[in-house]
Amino acid sequence: MYRMFLIKYAEIGVKGKNRYLFEDALVSQIKRTLKRVEGRFSVTKESGRIYVQAVGEFDYEETVEALQTVFGVVGICPVVLLADEGYDRLSEDVIAYMDRTYPDKHRSFKVQVRRARKTYPLDSMELGRMLGGDILHAFPDFSVDVHHPQILLRVEIREHIYVYSEIIPGPGGMPLGTNGKAMLLLSGGIDSPVAGYMIAKRGVMVDAVYFHAPPYTSDRAKNKVVDLARLVSRYSGPMRLHVVNFTDIQLYIYDQCPHDELTIIMRRYMMKIAEEIAGKEGSMALITGESIGQVASQTVQSLAVTNEVCTMPVFRPLIGFDKQEIVDVSLKINTYETSIQPFEDCCTIFVARHPVTKPNLNVIRRSEENLAEKIDGMLKEAVDTAELIEIDG
Ligand code: ATP
Ligand code: MG
Repeated sequence: MYRMFLIKYAEIGVKGKNRYLFEDALVSQIKRTLKRVEGRFSVTKESGRIYVQAVGEFDYEETVEALQTVFGVVGICPVVLLADEGYDRLSEDVIAYMDRTYPDKHRSFKVQVRRARKTYPLDSMELGRMLGGDILHAFPDFSVDVHHPQILLRVEIREHIYVYSEIIPGPGGMPLGTNGKAMLLLSGGIDSPVAGYMIAKRGVMVDAVYFHAPPYTSDRAKNKVVDLARLVSRYSGPMRLHVVNFTDIQLYIYDQCPHDELTIIMRRYMMKIAEEIAGKEGSMALITGESIGQVASQTVQSLAVTNEVCTMPVFRPLIGFDKQEIVDVSLKINTYETSIQPFEDCCTIFVARHPVTKPNLNVIRRSEENLAEKIDGMLKEAVDTAELIEIDG
């Protein structure tokens, strides 16, 4: 029944020249995303609207699902294309559309006509009234409500006649590529994939870095992170995942520093390494899944001490979220089931029984002096030997 979708988008403040950039980025992201769907599509921009039209066979469900991963899309309207063969035929087709789309007719509706082709013999008001009358006549259970209709039936007279009434929600946000690039610290947990999703939603391209500590963390733990990167990249597009071997640094910290400070010192080095790779890769910010108070290393004091090593802005989109709110997003974007697989994480293996929750920056710096002999070389080595995994998106 449907061969076409009208794509609704809106972002306040996207005006003038930016509007074209926004629309062009949206069109190219829609095209890229539809490549993973069976079928061929033409995606066109026409007088401030974007249309997706199937060329030949296509899978409706799969297409809608793919469009729901494109940031910038606010709504997806399945459109029926009608031939322009006179009023009677139009009325018949519109009645058939209403019948098929709304098996339960105890609802109110309104017909809204837009006449882009001004040579059409009937004017918008007149055509709307006539079609509304015919629908009511065919299905008396419907009622008309011009102010708050449950169904807004749009009829647009263009080269063809377009009819639509349903709006399937899209993810919103801004099209990818309209807002630079950032580096996500991606672990195997619930939080960081959600954090990456949220920043990508603002149009930011996302690469990722994962700290791996073999043999303390297994290949299965690493594969889980690769799986998560893939799931995030369904939304965020192609992603370069850097896998850093962190074992030697962790062991060195373990040997040289007080154990209750391990986590915080380790996190400072993670941020440093991530920033180094980010700089080389053209990312301008870091992203983490931290949320105030969630664990000892996420108290305000700990966050301040961790943050102190960074010169780039660090985006922490989950900072004010409760765990359940984060879980809700992870369920929506389908990362939850993968995240809860129980594999070890490098942050948990060397963790002290009673980590400091209110670290003092000067104390931490003094402890880090114990690392002076080897740490610079080890950091360089970690960056230089990082494994690159390219995720398709
Ligand atoms: P997550 O659910 O994202 O793992 P978490 O609640 O377990 O978060 P932490 O383990 O304290 O919290 O990690 C805080 C943040 O640090 C993570 O959200 C992630 O951005 C980053 N991080 C932690 N461990 C790693 C790792 N092994 N590799 C890359 N980043 C990590
Ligand atoms: Mg974690």
